[in-house]
Amino acid sequence: MTLASRAAPCAASRIAVLSMHTSPLAPLGGAATGGMNVYIHEVSERLARSDRAIDVFTRRESAAAPAVMEFAPGARLIQIEAGPVAAVPKAELIEFAADFAAGVETFRAAEAITYDLVHSHYWLSAVAGERLVADWGVPHIAMFHTLGEVKLRARASEHEPPERLEAERHLVHSVDRVVAATDYEQRLLRQIYGVPRSRVEVIPLGVDPERFCPGSREAARAELGLADDAQVVLAVGRIEPLKGLDILIRAAAQVTERSRLQLLIVGGDEAARPEFDRLSAIAEEVGVSDLVRFAGAVGHEALPDYYRAADVVVMPSFSESFGLVAVEAMASGVPVIASRVGGLASTVADGRTGYLVPWRCPEPFAEKIELLLRNRPLRDALGAAGVVRMRDFSWESVADRLVGLYDELDRAAVAGAESVAGG
Ligand code: UDP
Repeated sequence: MTLASRAAPCAASRIAVLSMHTSPLAPLGGAATGGMNVYIHEVSERLARSDRAIDVFTRRESAAAPAVMEFAPGARLIQIEAGPVAAVPKAELIEFAADFAAGVETFRAAEAITYDLVHSHYWLSAVAGERLVADWGVPHIAMFHTLGEVKLRARASEHEPPERLEAERHLVHSVDRVVAATDYEQRLLRQIYGVPRSRVEVIPLGVDPERFCPGSREAARAELGLADDAQVVLAVGRIEPLKGLDILIRAAAQVTERSRLQLLIVGGDEAARPEFDRLSAIAEEVGVSDLVRFAGAVGHEALPDYYRAADVVVMPSFSESFGLVAVEAMASGVPVIASRVGGLASTVADGRTGYLVPWRCPEPFAEKIELLLRNRPLRDALGAAGVVRMRDFSWESVADRLVGLYDELDRAAVAGAESVAGG
């Protein structure tokens, strides 16, 4: 199929979303799941409501998953066999990107449908997407979520595969548009990769205000077995060194009045065992083992109770491309103390909805935790301001912005094809 052979539509109507290395429906909180899965799930549902048919393609990891599953009206999840039908370390997946693209094309041909646009998530999908758009002659949008070079510079990673670095250097220029979550990411794309501003669309992520909203703290604590008078400091996310939870544990040890302190850490699966062990050893070393509770991974639908039960959410991350957890916490009316990195610097309003800490060391986190735990009116005021601020962050508006971008690229592609056809 070539673009010139497509009927000239006025708007993109069928989108292929590539999520090769992780399924948007995979359980959250594990090593390979997080903000990107939430994004694809939430946005696909809403895009499908706007009359776009959304097909999300992911690499098959389990024989049990249905080949095609409609997870929301108009949004399907399609399993593509490429490489072993099992979890494969991310670092090895590039080998299967070509097979993944071929599988998507086989599916398309079998269904006798055409796609108007490819939206790739993460560099592995973008490699596959590039092959597809070359055959299909349609626009290609990529959202990288993280970029190897950026992680290296932020010292958020010690090693990134050379093929990733090379592919990203090429892809940021070859796709029709990069979607970035923040102005900061857009600047990095310009400074590190030389991507012009006009090729980047900045669309902040969102939050579901019906799920993440203030609610009864007492009821949430009763549900979770937490004492009414406990001082609950919450952290949520993948359990890995990048999230800086060692800083949080060391900070807890510096809080002077700790008799009611409870550090609740949500996230992590079996793959996070080494980090759990490291964190437990640190808690032991600094004498706060009895205050730390690891809750393990918690389903997204059960998370609201955790936020509502919390007095403060802390994110001492070394790097965070957006940081959905901060947005969810603020939407739930809880102040956030976060490192001043990545997207956190643009979502948390320092001194108004929480605090941004420019240093990755325990002392300033301890100071802010103590300040908030001692001062309920301040906590309540910052929490209330967070709820108001988060009204600007909705998945609806993300989907609306994407629809605008799809339409713009589709019109440009059709106009380009018509001018070629017209000679
Ligand atoms: N999450 C969850 N259950 C868990 C841990 C995390 O539902 O046990 C969700 C969390 O609510 C958030 C996402 O996973 O929506 C993590 O996204 P974030 O952007 O904070 O981190 P990233 O995945 O980008 O590192």
